Amino acid sequence: MKTKKLGAEALQQEQGGIAVLSFPRLADPKVLRHAVSTRLGGVSRGGYQSLNLSLKVRDDPGRVQENRGLLSRAAGMGLDALVYVDQVHGDRVVKLDAANRPPGGGCLGEGDAIITNEKGVPLMLLVADCLPIFFYDPTHQAAGLAHAGWRGTVSHVAAKTLLAMGEAYGTRPEETKVALGPCIGPCCYEVGVEVYREFTEVFPWAGEVFRRSSPGHWKLDLAQANACQLMEMGLKEGNLIRSGLCTIRHNDLFYSHRAEAGEEEKTGRFGAFIMLNS
Ligand SMILES: [Zn+2]
Repeated sequence: MKTKKLGAEALQQEQGGIAVLSFPRLADPKVLRHAVSTRLGGVSRGGYQSLNLSLKVRDDPGRVQENRGLLSRAAGMGLDALVYVDQVHGDRVVKLDAANRPPGGGCLGEGDAIITNEKGVPLMLLVADCLPIFFYDPTHQAAGLAHAGWRGTVSHVAAKTLLAMGEAYGTRPEETKVALGPCIGPCCYEVGVEVYREFTEVFPWAGEVFRRSSPGHWKLDLAQANACQLMEMGLKEGNLIRSGLCTIRHNDLFYSHRAEAGEEEKTGRFGAFIMLNS
């Protein structure tokens, strides 16, 4: 296995051509496994090359399944039993427990976040520019994943995930560890006045996450917006891990919807995975 550092917080491990990232500060890998997949080492072609994990972007489904198998073996997380949600850029948090756990894995319905304290169940979110957020509560041994684009951020999906963990497991924000995965960075994420207005109406700190780029246009720091949202709830800066990786700058490693997808969807999705060890 080849290992190297990527940015300030991520470790890139490569095995058999499959590269995955992890954040060593998030958790002891003996108790919590987590990973961000990259586009390296798969069998998809064209704009999907090569480790596309999504069955919803018109890639060849056989290749997607093969990619999931390749990743499963490399990441060692039993990804054949993956549990996921039908992501809709909303704010619904789905709790996975013994009662709704799909045997052999599967979809829990519409949602943009999943939380659990079930052990041995790998959770997955798929992204290409949107921010994947990892949550880990070492005190109550609970974990979660949230998917935040600008709409999800405005609807407080990250804050709602932390609140849902509080209700379900007694999770306290000041004890929670959070990692912000790769997403479209403040270097590349230009937005118009609609997005700027929505943020400034909702968040008192919105001025901190926008930089004017041209008349009527701003660069948005999506990761920082979610960091502000979570720290407002009591998350400690020291427990926050920022990958700082932009999906456009690192387009060789990640899919970017903004940089690659035209009128017809022609790009893939990489995955965020988390699992409490049994
Ligand atoms: Zn960028």
